[in-house]
Amino acid sequence: MSAEERKPSLPTDEFNRKWYWDFRKNAWYCLRCNNCKWIDNWEVKDARFARICPSNAYYLFDTYAAQGRMDVSLDLIDGVLKYEDDPEILDILYACNTCGGCDVMCKGVHDMSPINVILEMRAKMVEDGQLLPQYLPILESLRREDNTMLGKKADRGKWAEGLGIKNLAEESAEVAFFTGCRFSFDEELWKIPRAIAGIFKDAGVDFGIMGKDENCCGSRPAQMGFKGEFTKYAENNIDAWKNAGVKTVVTACSDGYYAMKRLYPEVGSKVEVLHMVEFLARLIEQGKIKLTKKVPMKVTYHDPCHLGRRLSQAISVFNPNERSMGIYEPPRDIIKAIPGVEMVEMFRNRECAWCCGAGGGVIDTYPDFNSYTATQRIIEAQETGAEAIVTACPWCERSLGDAIKETGAKIKVIDLVELVDSARQRGGK
Ligand code: SF4
Ligand code: SF4
Repeated sequence: MSAEERKPSLPTDEFNRKWYWDFRKNAWYCLRCNNCKWIDNWEVKDARFARICPSNAYYLFDTYAAQGRMDVSLDLIDGVLKYEDDPEILDILYACNTCGGCDVMCKGVHDMSPINVILEMRAKMVEDGQLLPQYLPILESLRREDNTMLGKKADRGKWAEGLGIKNLAEESAEVAFFTGCRFSFDEELWKIPRAIAGIFKDAGVDFGIMGKDENCCGSRPAQMGFKGEFTKYAENNIDAWKNAGVKTVVTACSDGYYAMKRLYPEVGSKVEVLHMVEFLARLIEQGKIKLTKKVPMKVTYHDPCHLGRRLSQAISVFNPNERSMGIYEPPRDIIKAIPGVEMVEMFRNRECAWCCGAGGGVIDTYPDFNSYTATQRIIEAQETGAEAIVTACPWCERSLGDAIKETGAKIKVIDLVELVDSARQRGGK
């Protein structure tokens, strides 16, 4: 195919004016400018912490950055490259955290979306029957047990046993707490949803959970390319909330939040979706949580990608009404409102944050790459002198927590919920 033949047509109609939706054209328009590998120049505070793309930093090869992925994607779409030409093609497109760092840096200069190309290519590969072998047990777990964690569906609500929480499959409630796969099956993290239940009860929130009837939110399947699974779970969850008369869905998982807030409306969802950070801010503002207890601790905050910089499908510099998730300040404001806490920033923060390493299925599929990425974040956090990294996502907590265990680093990772729970007034004290 000649270069002339491969040129995208010029925008002429309404659909084509939205050409940035077309992932082939996005891949075609890549200028190979390198921006997707580094944080913005003016944000660099230390040369050791100037990179934005974990897979490029780990594999040390351009093909493992958005830039190379655009080349490979375009050639695959146009049939210039075939899957059988190189067994590494699957790794090139799957050893990516889907963290969106490249997307933010690319959008600083171009009107295109490398992250959407990568996600669409994964869906195309699934359609083409090109499955990453590491995904097979996860896919089996989704099909049999409706979760990504290889757990039993019947055990999904186990974390809540004995807490007397309303079961939304049987009763109505104003607020649904969506637990998500990681919090439901990662026993070490159960203390966080349990703390949330305590906070809700003390604040008088009318809430419930779906327990064993909760499905995966579909976020991880969507990141892996399983669009059919995503749609099925989105529809099931939307129906379940409707039947339970739910007005607001709250989740403490940033991946789930992204799916339910950004993607579910495309499947017909009309409920209000809040991340726990936003709900905590609301309860504090309403005076239902009072942060009165002193917590003497120096902490830094890690921005989960899906709570911060991940963008909507249609973001464009020519369409400024579309924004990133952008929840950067609320968690910081809550931390700063806790008496005794000293908050310090890492070199890379907010939209320039380094990913925790868990995203895009990488925590399950490329353990060495996952561990490298998380360890880099721990090193950066330790540079601040903080005793703890506070974050707001169970995937970050698992990934960073494992890196701390592996390296023996003298820092701990805690959820913002745990910090608030230690600082809140109980029973008038
Ligand atoms: S993906 Fe964007 S930032 Fe990266 S090389 Fe292409 S145009 Fe540049
Ligand atoms: S999504 Fe993250 S890991 Fe993937 S190419 Fe972009 S910056 Fe690199």
